[in-house]
Amino acid sequence: MQSQAATSYSERNFKPVVEQCEGCDRIVEESGTQFCQSYIMPAAKWRIGICNFATHAKPEIKVVTVRVNPLKAAKRASAKG
Ligand code: SF4
Repeated sequence: MQSQAATSYSERNFKPVVEQCEGCDRIVEESGTQFCQSYIMPAAKWRIGICNFATHAKPEIKVVTVRVNPLKAAKRASAKG
């Protein structure tokens, strides 16, 4: 018995991936067109920033280094002792 082929992405109204999706593991190719297997409209996903499903791009995490004024730190340390 032959199982029915799954409905294609294009038939399900999926939109092709956008430029920013390039390199993402969720891209699937179907009849020469690349679709996202997680999101129906990749362009919309990127309109407001980085796609949260993307496997190739992560939002930049800013590490804020708190600089301690050495003089004040020394004063605080001596005050404690
Ligand atoms: S998960 Fe996001 S980045 Fe990856 S293909 Fe889909 S829409 Fe594009």
